[in-house]
Amino acid sequence: MINDLRNLTIDEARELCVRMGEKPFRAQQIFSWLYKGKSSVQSVGEIVSLSAAFREQLENAGWDVGVLRVLAHQISAQDGTEKYLFELEDGNAVESVLMRYEYGYTVCVSTQAGCRMGCSFCASGLNGLVRDLTAGEIVSQVIDIMRNSRIKVNHVVFMGTGEPFDNYENVSRAVKILTEPQGTGMSARSITVSTSGIVPVIRRFGDDFPQVNLAISLHAPDDEIRRDIMPVAKAYPIKELISACDAYVEKTNRRVTFEYALIRGVNDSTECMHKLAELLSGHLAHVNLIPLNEVDETGLKSSGRGRAVEFRKYLETHGVPASVRRELGSDIDGACGQLRNRMQKQDQTNM
Ligand code: SAH
Ligand code: SF4
Repeated sequence: MINDLRNLTIDEARELCVRMGEKPFRAQQIFSWLYKGKSSVQSVGEIVSLSAAFREQLENAGWDVGVLRVLAHQISAQDGTEKYLFELEDGNAVESVLMRYEYGYTVCVSTQAGCRMGCSFCASGLNGLVRDLTAGEIVSQVIDIMRNSRIKVNHVVFMGTGEPFDNYENVSRAVKILTEPQGTGMSARSITVSTSGIVPVIRRFGDDFPQVNLAISLHAPDDEIRRDIMPVAKAYPIKELISACDAYVEKTNRRVTFEYALIRGVNDSTECMHKLAELLSGHLAHVNLIPLNEVDETGLKSSGRGRAVEFRKYLETHGVPASVRRELGSDIDGACGQLRNRMQKQDQTNM
């Protein structure tokens, strides 16, 4: 395993420089070269503001830039959404998506290879968890996309494969690295982390990152339905989840996004619609209604866009702001939430 420079926070990079007999400000130089967006360096040797002797010293100690290998890259003919399949150092693969909006570019990153949460509608968790990604591997998805697609990324959403709050240490380190002013300089307000609802970590997150946005995969208005489709609900009932979200709002003054994928015959009844409005009215919330991406293995069907619009109208007339998510990259299986790891070679050729 290499020692990945992209895995270091700036404080750790300073410590490394000092340990190697260099001045701490060298860490700023390292960061500015590592995170130059489109022209980010890909090896220690390219960080030319460091002396040749220091670069050699770093290389001898096993330090390198953890660039990800692009195994596959698809571009949607419909809307320009791009999907990347990256190979990690140990041969595992993860997907990331680049989306274009009027207000700029958003990258959706994966935080784990696989996922242990086992939500019934989701492709990411079909084979359970393979392993956590390192912070460097999360950061690299953003940086390598900027470099490969030659664009500046404005927003990062942690909505790819994996449960960010099941890998909190590395996710929080990745947020710190991405928002370091000496590096990409991305603002915390342009980052969103989505969780299936691990309550104790939601509480910590509000303390640690009061400027980062929080999204909750709700997908049901009551515990009975939620436990059926999301096993995490057995550990953390909706009441506790909402109260952790209220605490986040209290601390941060930021609105929470609740994601709700409409699954035919499961969570799309008129009763569900009413219960959802009742649950969220009076909270600083926004509901993102998602027409389900159908995953063959699950047998679950989408309720259709029309039903999502009906939900939106009802919620809005009952004081709960809501929107229906645009389906980006549907021709390349590219929308967030339908990412899956394709680890076998024969699968990769079918992408
Ligand atoms: N594990 C985190 C983040 C990754 S999933 C979480 O669950 O929030 C990102 C989003 O996609 C979540 O809202 C998730 O519930 C949703 N999602 C998963 N499978 C989906 C599917 N088949 N159709 C639509 N959305 C889906
Ligand atoms: Fe994991 Fe999120 Fe998929 Fe649930 S929806 S299995 S938490 S990635």
